Amino acid sequence: MPLVAMRQLLDEAAKGGYGVGAFNVNNMEQIQAIMEAARETQSPVVIQASRGARAYSQDRFLYHLMIAATEVYPEIPVVLHLDHGNSPATCKSAIDMGFTSVMMDGSLMEDGKTPSSYEHNVAVTREVVAAAHAKGVTVEAEIGCLGGIEDGHGAGGSGMEHLTDPAQAEQFVKDTNCDALAIAIGTSHGAYKFTKKPDGSVLKMDVLIEIHKRLPKTHLVMHGSSSVPKDLQDIINQYGGKLKQTWGVPIEEIQLGIRNGVRKINVDTDNRLAITGAIRKVFMETPEKFDPRDYLKPAREAMKKVVMQRMVEFGQAGHAKDFTPIPLAEMAAMYKKELATA
Ligand SMILES: [Zn+2]
Repeated sequence: MPLVAMRQLLDEAAKGGYGVGAFNVNNMEQIQAIMEAARETQSPVVIQASRGARAYSQDRFLYHLMIAATEVYPEIPVVLHLDHGNSPATCKSAIDMGFTSVMMDGSLMEDGKTPSSYEHNVAVTREVVAAAHAKGVTVEAEIGCLGGIEDGHGAGGSGMEHLTDPAQAEQFVKDTNCDALAIAIGTSHGAYKFTKKPDGSVLKMDVLIEIHKRLPKTHLVMHGSSSVPKDLQDIINQYGGKLKQTWGVPIEEIQLGIRNGVRKINVDTDNRLAITGAIRKVFMETPEKFDPRDYLKPAREAMKKVVMQRMVEFGQAGHAKDFTPIPLAEMAAMYKKELATA
């Protein structure tokens, strides 16, 4: 099947009461790991690329690898999503290339660092919504700022400085008509999210629940939601790595989110850890090896295992065949109708 609009995937997830993992990629092995995991668990899935990923892999390589994924795994509904677009121009270039969903992160200025004003966020998001919806492409926006920094993008800090205000989130969705909304509830990008197992003082699930009450129809997105399991950290350190012990977002908190409107869960760090651990193990145990396949195969396998586990935990497993994809032109017509009746 062709690449699917994220709006449809998340609408289906809302109907079914489950969440969908959105996994970041930079190369062929990561795409293959996700698609294999999706096939084994029969999951619809979101594959996303950041600006850094697009620069690393080059747009044309990335796009054609994703087309290959739809050909080799025709039974899997898969979205190609732009993670943290920093400007309308970045989002429009992704739409032109064939992304079926884009994130316009107007919570930060175009530099990807400086928190922006509400007015700036609304203006750039509206511009992207108009361009994207005209082509049936989905838009994720962000209100409040995540903590941490990754691929040069992020407000930094602990994640507690710019929490989403529920009343402002409600107004923002009215002002922009975005399809999905990323919210800041204390999570951060990268591996170092929390210095101990997070509780209600640092992970604001109550804010999430309040936002869902105000916006029951908006698909909420949890960023920075790797669980950073200790066993993945341990493998890296066992084979010569030097990670400081750290805590991510516990699966049970994500599942609580899913019961309260979270439909998309971004996971990157866990996969990075799995890949690096597997490669380190090969290097340490068999230092005479030098064929990249000798370490990329176990790396791909280790990532697939993590992704499969998340697909089961988020509830998307078993839902690949629930629906037939709506062509983007039809999605565009639907948005046009929505506008006319609004
Ligand atoms: Zn993010």
